[in-house]
This record gives sequence, structure tokens and C-alpha cells, in this order.
Amino acid sequence: MAFRQRVFSGVQPTGNLHLGNYLGAMVKFVALQESYDCIYCIVDLHAITVWQDPAELPKTTREVAAAFLACGIDPRKQIVFNQSQVAEHAELAWVFNCVARLGWLNRMTQFKEKAGKDRENASVGLYAYPALMAADILAYRATHVPVGEDQKQHLELSRDIAQKFNNDFAASIHAHGFGEQFFPLPEPLIQGPATRVMSLRDGSKKMSKSDASDQSRINLTDDADTIAHKIRRAKTDPDPLPGDEAGLKSRPEADNLVGIYAALAERSKADVLRELDGAQFSTFKAALAELAVARLGPINAEMKRLLADPVHIDTVLGEGAARAQVIAAETMKAVKDIVGLVHR
Ligand code: ATP
Ligand code: MG
Repeated sequence: MAFRQRVFSGVQPTGNLHLGNYLGAMVKFVALQESYDCIYCIVDLHAITVWQDPAELPKTTREVAAAFLACGIDPRKQIVFNQSQVAEHAELAWVFNCVARLGWLNRMTQFKEKAGKDRENASVGLYAYPALMAADILAYRATHVPVGEDQKQHLELSRDIAQKFNNDFAASIHAHGFGEQFFPLPEPLIQGPATRVMSLRDGSKKMSKSDASDQSRINLTDDADTIAHKIRRAKTDPDPLPGDEAGLKSRPEADNLVGIYAALAERSKADVLRELDGAQFSTFKAALAELAVARLGPINAEMKRLLADPVHIDTVLGEGAARAQVIAAETMKAVKDIVGLVHR
């Protein structure tokens, strides 16, 4: 059976959206609107796998919504909503908890990173996170998932879950008229330069919302001065910039800044380096700051405008959720039939 081409992606409302989210996610989300039906979700149920201040969570949720809109996602053409408004995500996740194997989840590097040394004290939700992510995607039987490099392993697990569900319930899927397989195996869409933006303080760590140091990232809410200041202070090495990509080897910080520049300028790294050959970091950083401010400034302003009217944002999210639920409820009804859960 041919599945309808559909994109699903989620962003956690866990704090300040940053340049990594922008280049690794938002820019791609906007481009995908042209060729796919897209569902963009603010995954608040994922966020609470680690502690979230109940007074802050609504704000960060609206902030991500504002960022989606400010970056150019059209909520009338696409579906934009927050996850907890569509209960089917959690419902399907439970079924997937029963499909996924402990051994699979034990291999997830994000859990190891986020749980840290005190693993016994991590939430069960943090461990089961990938099963909920599979449910997010598969509730819509989405075929394509634009994710940063950091989420590739989780997406592979979603495929494993879809595959095992299709195998385990093959006879029932067939008996209920769904043909050979009920769920598509969702594919990653990882394209373009700077799919992984690294921390400004440490070129071996990814730029992340949950990094304790605000200096490590450029937030979408940072003003021009803050952006310039953070770029000026970004870690580098003493050598001038090389003329080709080979010269960036074992220079993670230089590589990262060049990658960011190239992505913001929508040019290749090789092209940018031909021009930068021999330049000092002071000169390059000034050009990078100027470019970053030019790209992020208008988004920053539009986010501020949208956030001044939270009622409008909540309306957008509510309407998106209603449209999402129509699709998810249909999937869940079929899943209940396939699994043998009696329903109304
Ligand atoms: P957290 O630290 O809370 O996990 P995060 O910064 O990783 O936050 P997410 O909400 O997990 O942000 O991710 C949102 C989207 O942004 C995902 O598609 C993810 O792949 C992408 N993304 C996150 N960090 C980066 C990065 N440093 N470079 C490129 N893409 C990124
Ligand atoms: Mg993340």
C-alpha cells in the first residue's frame, strides 16, 4: 500500500530556542511546506521527562509556537499544535511501550547522556521517550521526519517499532483490511550544511537548550548586541582560517563557526572558505555576527510581536490540535481493532 507523503516533526518546549534549532529544524520545516503536508508539534509531553517549572512551561510552549510562525510556517496550510492536546499520542505510546524491547531502549545514547551518572534517579518517561516519539510520528502514519543528526537513533527506533508492530500483528492487520503493513517506516530527512550546530564554548558538544551555559548558544530571543558578544567570545584556536575543508580537520570550533556562516549565507563551506583563506578570526567573527543579526533580527522582532498576544497563539494551537486529532483518532481506532482492544 502506498502511504500518503506526510512530514511530522517535534520541538520540545524546554527553554530557549537557539541557532541549532533554527538551522537544524526550523529552516528545513519551512522549506518542506512546499512539497509535503506537514505536522509540526510542540512536544510538551517529551519536555516533562525532565523537570519543568509549571509556571514556565506554558510560556516556553507559546515561545516555540511563536518561533514556528515567525520563521514562516503557515498554520492554515500545515498543522501546528502542542502534543498534550491530542491524547492519542500518549495512548499510542502505551501500545508501543508494549512493542518496544528493553534491549532496544538500553542502547539509546540520549538517555545515557541526559540521565547522566544518577541513572537510578531518572524518570521512567525519559527512558521510554523514544516510544512516545514513535507514537508522535506514527499516529499520523507520517512517512518523513526532518530531524537533526542528534535524533537519528530515535528515528531508527521508530522504524523498528513500526516494523515489529507490522510483523507481530500481520494477520490481524490483514484481517482488518489494512493490507500488508499498517505503519509506514518513517524516513529521516537530513539535508543541507550545518545539520549539527555545536556549542560556542566546546566544539565537541552540540548546541543545546539544556546546556547550563547561556554563552554556549545563540538564542532566537537574543538581541543584536548579545549575538555579537557571544560570537566574539566564541571559543576558537590561534590559527588563521584555512582555504579548504581539509584545513578544518581537528579544528572543531573553527569548523563549527564556518558551518554556521555557510548555513546562514546559504552557501557551501568550500565556497565560503575560498573567500576566507588566511583571514583572522577577529575579521571573520565580525562578518559572522553581522550575518547572524541580519538573519535572526526580523525573526526576533516577529516573535516579540506574536508573544504579546498569547490568546492568538493559543487559538492557533487549539485549531491545530483539533485538526491533528481527526487524523490521530482514526489511527488509534484502527490500532485498537488490530490489537484487539474493544472500543465504542
Ligand atoms: P534539549 O537539550 O532539551 O534536548 P535541543 O536543543 O536538543 O533541546 P530539541 O527540542 O530536542 O532541542 O530539538 C528540536 C529540533 O532541533 C530537533 O529537530 C533537533 O534535531 C534539532 N536540533 C537540536 N539541537 C540541534 C543542533 N545543535 N544542531 C542542529 N539541530 C539541532
Ligand atoms: Mg534534543
